[in-house]
Amino acid sequence: METENTQLVTNEQLFLAKVERLEQEIESLRSQNIILREYLDTKITQGEQLSQVNHRLQTEILDRQQTETALRLLLDRLSGEKEDLEIILDTTTSHSDTIEALLYDRALSLAREVTIDGLTQIANRRAFDQRLEREWQRLAREHLPLSLLLCDVDFFKRYNDRYGHPMGDDCLRAVAKSIESCIRRPADLVARYGGEEFAVILPNTLREGATFIAEEICITIANLHIPHEASFVKDCVSLSIGISTTMPEKNVHPRSLIESADKGLYLAKNQGRDRAVYSSN
Ligand code: GH3
Ligand code: MG
Ligand code: MG
Repeated sequence: METENTQLVTNEQLFLAKVERLEQEIESLRSQNIILREYLDTKITQGEQLSQVNHRLQTEILDRQQTETALRLLLDRLSGEKEDLEIILDTTTSHSDTIEALLYDRALSLAREVTIDGLTQIANRRAFDQRLEREWQRLAREHLPLSLLLCDVDFFKRYNDRYGHPMGDDCLRAVAKSIESCIRRPADLVARYGGEEFAVILPNTLREGATFIAEEICITIANLHIPHEASFVKDCVSLSIGISTTMPEKNVHPRSLIESADKGLYLAKNQGRDRAVYSSN
């Protein structure tokens, strides 16, 4: 009996121990299950993230493919253009001497256009202004005199009316050439100042020298014997000339010299034309 009881107690203890172990196992499985669930959750989140990344990558791949196609097209076009350019370059290189010569000619003619009067081929008003300013400053520094002549064709409107504008142009060309033939020094300049007016810059020239040149110009024009039947002075083309001389000063404008010469010209016209008259400033 006692043995039986003992057996029963032992069995119960064993049973309880087994139950306890099982409970422990269940608890362990439960916590493992929680871990697995968490692990699974993490994997699911990672999976979703991966699918998003994958989607982004797919889109990027598509973009890149489109860009590549566009670049390929561009490359094709560029190589076409490159071939065209190579042909042009070949042609240009083989004609470079001609092109250089053409450019040089063009540059020369542009430079001329800026400073040369188209009709008479002497210096234009712009060249006159620049030279007068330059000489004014130079002579002011060197304390040397400067003379200016303003020459105007007499009754030139009547010349045009009588002989026509093209003949008037020929006359202006001949007058310009004659005036130029009267100056000698490299620093002297004859310019077309206006329609039928010419200016002569005479650096380092005193009143006497300037008057001498002005009179020489009048004589040279007379010797041209260009008929001018409509003139009230004589029967051929003549000039009136205003002369002025001054000692340039750095802070005085060369305009003062032009104004004096203009006054001389006005006097020459008033005194009967075909003459040179000096006017002081
Ligand atoms: P004055 O003796 O007082 O100087 O009389 P003028 O007739 O010469 O002076 P005016 O100023 O009345 O006339 C100047 C003329 O010069 C008028 C204009 O048609 C002419 N003229 C100006 N430029 C040119 C040009 O380039 N070619 C020609 N043919 N004539 C010109
Ligand atoms: Mg005039
Ligand atoms: Mg005139």
